[in-house]
Amino acid sequence: MKVFKFGGASVKDAAAVRNVAEIISLFKGDKIGVVVSAMGKTTNALELIVDALYNRKKSNFDELVAERKDFHIEIISELFTNKNHSIFSEITTEFEQLSNMYNARIPDNYNYEYDQIVSLGEVISTKIVSAYLNECNIPSAWADARLLIRTNNKYREGEVDWNKTEGLFKENFLPEFENCDVQVVQGFIGHTSEGLTTTLGREGSDYTAGIMAFCCDAESVTIWKDVPGMLNADPKWFDNTIKLNSISFHEAIELSYYGASVIHPKTLKPLQNKNIPLYVKSFIEPHASGTVIQSSTSEDHLIPSFIFKMNQVLFSFTPKDFSFIVEKNLSDIFSRLATADAKINLMQNSALNFSILLDEEKVNIEEIQNLFEDTYKVRYNQGLELVTVRHYDQETLDRVTTDKDIILQQKTRETARLIVKQK
Ligand code: ASP
Repeated sequence: MKVFKFGGASVKDAAAVRNVAEIISLFKGDKIGVVVSAMGKTTNALELIVDALYNRKKSNFDELVAERKDFHIEIISELFTNKNHSIFSEITTEFEQLSNMYNARIPDNYNYEYDQIVSLGEVISTKIVSAYLNECNIPSAWADARLLIRTNNKYREGEVDWNKTEGLFKENFLPEFENCDVQVVQGFIGHTSEGLTTTLGREGSDYTAGIMAFCCDAESVTIWKDVPGMLNADPKWFDNTIKLNSISFHEAIELSYYGASVIHPKTLKPLQNKNIPLYVKSFIEPHASGTVIQSSTSEDHLIPSFIFKMNQVLFSFTPKDFSFIVEKNLSDIFSRLATADAKINLMQNSALNFSILLDEEKVNIEEIQNLFEDTYKVRYNQGLELVTVRHYDQETLDRVTTDKDIILQQKTRETARLIVKQK
């Protein structure tokens, strides 16, 4: 059995859904578990709907629900010529229920309610895709991730109960392949032991594909994207990017740790554990080779990869009493940073200084100053970039530092990390 994952962009309109059906039809005879995300930007729109609900903004809520409904109805109107097809009433019912939630009692637990509403994006998209595949004579069944993926009740960030989930896939999912070759499942969602819907965190559909593959002992996972595969840098920041043909799980995990928006490490780990290869392929050119992520490290060193983080702020803390930076101050500094929920991108210490680099948009500079100023002199430098180069050489470092001042650098044998500022 194979696992395919189609993200929001690959089902963003009717033409995209047709393309998904064409890709699946290329694999006639294979058993495929198809994981699908919400269509286009639906998850963002549903987040706004939750906010409108909690802020008691009725007209805003109604407007947003109507807009999402129209978006989906337009897609199915293009896909299904038979206007009596049951998909029209199914989708209408989903939106009616969403609409009625405004007048129901609103739970105190925002995250719980978020999951009940935001998960609808995937429920709706999979109903449409599954019905459309059948329309194209690709016999497919709609499977409910809320009966397969068991999580704890940490809403918006559900943690998977692997034993239970594996059992549910073996009992309720795999046997269905006796009746059809394709099963369509929602990405991003799961359920608690009480049967309440949870989500796995934003961008969680890749993770669903990893979970499904692990639990079903799949032969491979393919993530279909609007890029030819994994590139050695984000084309937004870099000219002449190169596609990586093959990299190891280890390398892919390192790249995503440093901030490459490739595949979430959570997705990679279960696949690595069972040695299931992950293909990243283009849904525009499905015959092209794409990238394979697998256990062999033999090609990892061939091409340097670049990861850019823009809008960084570097803080330096110096103890006011001129004491040295030793373990005691470090634990004090970390506990203060934990209070501010700071996510550190890089850190460095010297005898009298401890420096950390943070995303400017995720940090409240004043809050950090207030948290530290009783004991430390705080300085900060804004407008910086963090560049990470895996498998670097001097030429690659020169390339990323042209016209830039180097503020700080760290190097290991494999990885160079540079904080730079435009001259
Ligand atoms: N629809 C969810 C999101 O946009 C999950 C996903 O697409 O991966 O975050």
